[in-house]
Amino acid sequence: DPAVCTPLPVLGRDVTVPLVTGGEVTYAALDYAASAPALQRVWDDVAAYAPYYGSVHRGAGYLSQLSTDLFESARATVAAFLDCRADDELVFTRSTTDSLNLLAAALPAGCQVFVFETEHHASLLPWRDARVTYLDAPRTPDEAVATLEGALATRDPQGPALVCVTGASNVTGELWPVRELAAAAHAHGARIVLDAAQLAPHHPVSVRDLDVDWVAFSGHKLYAPFGSGVLAGRADWLREAEPYLAGGGASRTVSRRADGGVDVEWHDGAARHEAGSPNVIGAHAVASACKALTEEGFDRLVARERHLIEKVRTGLAGVPGVRVLSLFGDDAPRVGVLSFVVEGWNSSHFAAALSAEYGIGVRDGLFCAHPLVRTLLGTGPEAQGECGAPEAAPGEKSLNAIRVSFGAGTPDEHVERFTAAVA
Ligand code: PMP
Repeated sequence: DPAVCTPLPVLGRDVTVPLVTGGEVTYAALDYAASAPALQRVWDDVAAYAPYYGSVHRGAGYLSQLSTDLFESARATVAAFLDCRADDELVFTRSTTDSLNLLAAALPAGCQVFVFETEHHASLLPWRDARVTYLDAPRTPDEAVATLEGALATRDPQGPALVCVTGASNVTGELWPVRELAAAAHAHGARIVLDAAQLAPHHPVSVRDLDVDWVAFSGHKLYAPFGSGVLAGRADWLREAEPYLAGGGASRTVSRRADGGVDVEWHDGAARHEAGSPNVIGAHAVASACKALTEEGFDRLVARERHLIEKVRTGLAGVPGVRVLSLFGDDAPRVGVLSFVVEGWNSSHFAAALSAEYGIGVRDGLFCAHPLVRTLLGTGPEAQGECGAPEAAPGEKSLNAIRVSFGAGTPDEHVERFTAAVA
């Protein structure tokens, strides 16, 4: 079926890399979960705008007006892509990490935060100034909902509370029951933020339908690697918080007081948290990617990705010693992200061999989700991951894992080369 087998055009398809065994080969980028290549169309849109680049919200000249229009229309496009509510605010940030740190800085006083230990560190760690309850790794989606409900039932129902949850795991690719978790949060008077860094590039995300209060994602995982991220959702906490960054753009008026100090009146819309000159090219690129994915249609994108996931799973299933990591079971629905270990191998060495001998780029380590990967590997803090872990002897536990991830630009040949190389 050509609809399922034709990848979207992306940059970097023709990059060749040398092999240690001699010769060269086209690079197989199978680390989309870290950063996906730019869609050709995003690159074209960025190039078309580049000659007209100007300052946003600052100049009276034509290029400045054009850039301001482009920036604000990018905001509207991304809000439509996320199916935001009419009164939601959408702030352009640098990344998911930045978005979640912004929300963490905007928590009301006394806010309690609930987060599963299985989260990416970007979702696990920003809540330093709040009372945080870390929830144990669930083994089924239903258990995730029950665990959250149990924890929320014990909270002070008067105070503010926030749940932070991923839509798709950056380690296992597994989908989390976001709608059910949002319903549980709301039933207990809490709010919920969705970390959609891995979900949004692969699945439609509707803020309205999932009934989440905020959503965060990164442009560079959504085929728009130009330094932009997004935080979208309820306006009230953002409006009531101190600006994330203080400076021009966030301030409406600044005046000297008689006592020598300075009075500031801050903006209350998205500008409140976008001080300084914003990344208009990054915002334009994210909007372009949102348009491209919407026009391609998520039905086709999901179908294509399922086809690739099946190929990878079938290929790995035939290799002795390979164990695919999963929290919710091998058949759980997932996006194009899959981690595994190979008995007797240090995953870092395995990943290095895939690169040096086959021209395949994957990731190894603990993937900025240390507690989750340790749970999946059945290890303790000795699993340090990134590099230098000792070779696991046959029968011993691996101390780190290998992750393969792909998406809209991945040709079948890349995953076929990958499974053949693993075998
Ligand atoms: N959340 C998840 C689930 C992720 O996979 C990542 C990136 N690996 C992040 C958050 C952080 O994204 P960024 O590095 O773009 O801030």
